Amino acid sequence: MKVERKKISAEVRRHVRQRCHFGCVICGLPLYEYDHMFDYAVTGTHKEEELTLLCDRHHSEKTKKLLPRETVIAANKAPFNKTHDVSEPYGFHFSGSRCEFVLGGNNRFLASKARLVPILVNGDEVLVFDFRDGHLLLSAMIRDRNGQKILSIEENELTYSSGTWDIDFVGRELTLRNGLRDFQFQATFETPGRVVVSRLDIRYGDVRVYVDPKGIHVRGPGERSRDLSSVTMLGGFEHAVVLDSHGVRAAGLIL
Ligand SMILES: [Zn+2]
Repeated sequence: MKVERKKISAEVRRHVRQRCHFGCVICGLPLYEYDHMFDYAVTGTHKEEELTLLCDRHHSEKTKKLLPRETVIAANKAPFNKTHDVSEPYGFHFSGSRCEFVLGGNNRFLASKARLVPILVNGDEVLVFDFRDGHLLLSAMIRDRNGQKILSIEENELTYSSGTWDIDFVGRELTLRNGLRDFQFQATFETPGRVVVSRLDIRYGDVRVYVDPKGIHVRGPGERSRDLSSVTMLGGFEHAVVLDSHGVRAAGLIL
């Protein structure tokens, strides 16, 4: 039975996510809901220590009492993802022949039945849509400021380091932060074939390339500062924006 309830504060939700290592405590799935281990109808409070994360299936099983409360309480003390370096994978359902990345502002990178790589940093293909054997496959490689891999999508399969500061996956939007207002990556996954990136922060040497809701920005010594806000590129290029030891280059773009 649904109960009218107060909202759980953003801070409490984050603390619960961090404690549960960003996944269902039973199976590790990164798509989850906040569960009151002791029924909210009885307690009427959102105490941090009484909340946990459960995926849709395990939440529903608990509600139906197919999953005992004691099992959830035990899993809450030893969350699945805590005992693994990386989260359980989540599989995206991209499909069709057209794909598009929107990178801040109105920068659009589009392709049809072709490989699309909008940003390449020191050999890392940061974001990729690939079309193979009739399948549309998304890949991504997000590193923290020390160059450590913290989130990856390999051919539609999302995993992330369970030691990340905060990962919040709400609806279709995933947000990864290194601190309170310190965004590393934020994207909305719009099936069948579109990813809207509103935040991305990449550093390579002295150069920083970042995406925010206004556009793509390049900053660094010896580099001209560049800001792209409404670029449209159709497929047919290998890489759109390249950042490596030779500097920053952009195929087909006059910066
Ligand atoms: Zn689960």
